[in-house]
Amino acid sequence: MVTTRTDPTWRAAASVVDPELRVLTIEDLGVLREVATDRDSGRVTVTITPTYTGCPAMDVIRDDIRAALAAAGHPGAEVVTVYAPAWSTDWISETGRAKLAAAGIAPPGPAGTTGPVPLTLSVRCPLCGAADTEQVSRFGSTACKSLWRCRACREPFDHLRAF
Ligand SMILES: [Zn+2]
Repeated sequence: MVTTRTDPTWRAAASVVDPELRVLTIEDLGVLREVATDRDSGRVTVTITPTYTGCPAMDVIRDDIRAALAAAGHPGAEVVTVYAPAWSTDWISETGRAKLAAAGIAPPGPAGTTGPVPLTLSVRCPLCGAADTEQVSRFGSTACKSLWRCRACREPFDHLRAF
């Protein structure tokens, strides 16, 4: 039985924050796909889709989901990881994008709109809004972000990786 987004089990799972982007919940990120409850046993199954393959945050997220559900009275929840369809930055909610911008992290552009144009041209400085930015490192403060610098205000900033 798939629960709705107002169900206490969904709300418990949705309260889990991304360990790398603590301003965002897994619901904001679009990582949380489904919460289901077994009609007979009451056991909860949570389905998530990782932001990208190899992101170490996913192990932490799985543990946090189990802990959040246990705290909500549902111990022994199962967390299922689904890789298809692949997560895309399009799944980040409007709330999530606003939180990213407020945290000084450049929200990724919608997937597919960059086409053959290098992603470097589409990353705007979250501090001053200038488009004149450069990638400093493929790895930012965490493995899931890359480090950029703005040529206009000279400030470095993290950019959440987009596919
Ligand atoms: Zn700037």
